[in-house]
Amino acid sequence: LLHITGLTKSFDETGPVVNNVSFDVGKNEIFALLGPSGCGKTTTLRLIAGFEQCEAGEVFIEEELVESTNKRLSPQKREIGFVFQDYALFPHMNALENVAFGLHEIERKKRPVLAEEVLCRTGMEKYKHRMPDELSGGQQQRVALARAIAPKPRLVLMDEPFSGLDAMLRDTTRKEVRGILKKSGMSAILVTHDQEEALSFADRIAVMNNGQIEQIGTPEEVYYHPKTQFVAQFLGRTN
Ligand code: ATP
Repeated sequence: LLHITGLTKSFDETGPVVNNVSFDVGKNEIFALLGPSGCGKTTTLRLIAGFEQCEAGEVFIEEELVESTNKRLSPQKREIGFVFQDYALFPHMNALENVAFGLHEIERKKRPVLAEEVLCRTGMEKYKHRMPDELSGGQQQRVALARAIAPKPRLVLMDEPFSGLDAMLRDTTRKEVRGILKKSGMSAILVTHDQEEALSFADRIAVMNNGQIEQIGTPEEVYYHPKTQFVAQFLGRTN
């Protein structure tokens, strides 16, 4: 579904923050970019989304070239959904209005019905009239997910979506979100610095360090068979 080759980006003369990054994400696959703060995870997501311009490499979504040095598709046309750390719900809109807002391609009359259906899928239908500040962090995150998947994007990008939640809520929200993504047949990329989160949430993980991918594999592969010293250390396995 997503195919990335040689993606590279620098902001200044300190060198590339994303350096020759290549990976693929399959249909209905949940992929994690895992690595320490500042290793280039967010910049990679922003390049996929079209919020940054690459200096080398290519990004394809469903075989369509969306990012390269020559041809770029505008972010709106890439059909990507987002979930951010701070949920980014509109504070003056209730849950239903927040989800309906993303459906601008759909005829206005049909938006609330569709929004309600997606809220139902994320277990939030009974909170549809609540304002964001009347919802818990986990509930807000489920509304944010509903808003991201309502327009049926080709890919969902999630940047540290659970890090604002306390430990217990984080665990249950993670499981719920994974279930919703899988049931909806969505492909997603999760950015996180939390190895436990990547191991429990993703089907495959790319471990990033210093702008580069050190290893890509299933949670079992990267955990039990780290290919580099860095991966072993980052996953808390010092052999
Ligand atoms: P974090 O988890 O802390 O967000 P990250 O792995 O997502 O880290 P990025 O946000 O991609 O890392 O940042 C990678 C590097 O690029 C950092 O050193 C950062 O300072 C730098 N950087 C990011 N955005 C810009 C920008 N707009 N201008 C200049 N430098 C930037």
